[in-house]
Amino acid sequence: MQFNERDLQRLIHALRSKGIGDERILKAFVSVPRHLFVPPGLEHKAYTDAALPIGGSQTISAPSTVAAMLTALQLSSRDRVLEIGTGSGFQTALLTKLVAEVYSIERNLSLLKEVSERLVRAGCGTAHLRAGDGMLGWSEHAPYDAIIVSAGTEEVPSNLVDQLKPGSRMVIPLKGRINLITKTRGGLRLRELSECQFVPLLPGHTES
Ligand code: SAH
Repeated sequence: MQFNERDLQRLIHALRSKGIGDERILKAFVSVPRHLFVPPGLEHKAYTDAALPIGGSQTISAPSTVAAMLTALQLSSRDRVLEIGTGSGFQTALLTKLVAEVYSIERNLSLLKEVSERLVRAGCGTAHLRAGDGMLGWSEHAPYDAIIVSAGTEEVPSNLVDQLKPGSRMVIPLKGRINLITKTRGGLRLRELSECQFVPLLPGHTES
């Protein structure tokens, strides 16, 4: 596909008009070519603010949803971040532009096997990728400065809370709303951010 600079600028404008003002995050959206993360035939929709199917009944999240979740985490370039639900790898790619180390877990092997090559083609940094059940977290590299969960759940997975640094944040779609969770000395502080539609966080892992 011919990359269209005007479509990208329109997307950035749409993100700004939806309240995304963090220049580091907007810059990451400019530098990661989203059309490389959508299936063949859908490239013309890559710079619209829409979730799109990526196979295996999964979706690449809408840019404004990803941007809002990243904004809520208040990431610093020194952070080590755990992502649950790699999917297309687009958000993983953005994270490589924003933080020091990215750890990402995906339960669907056929989605995951495309991601590292896509990150290279997109000119992004590397991410540590793992196939498996993200609800268990990735204890070997814990604790994390931030955790981002890209699939919806009814309960906060306790393993993820355990693997978060004290004072740190997790964003997670919880009961149909994106929640920002802060791990405090007294326990968890939850703040509802917005309504959302996410594919469900499922246990175990699968080939396709
Ligand atoms: N951020 C991704 C979102 C993909 S959709 C993107 O924009 O492309 C959510 C993803 O979470 C799916 O790929 C799904 O397979 C994955 N997923 C669901 N439950 C999971 C679990 N327990 N562990 C890891 N990944 C999971």
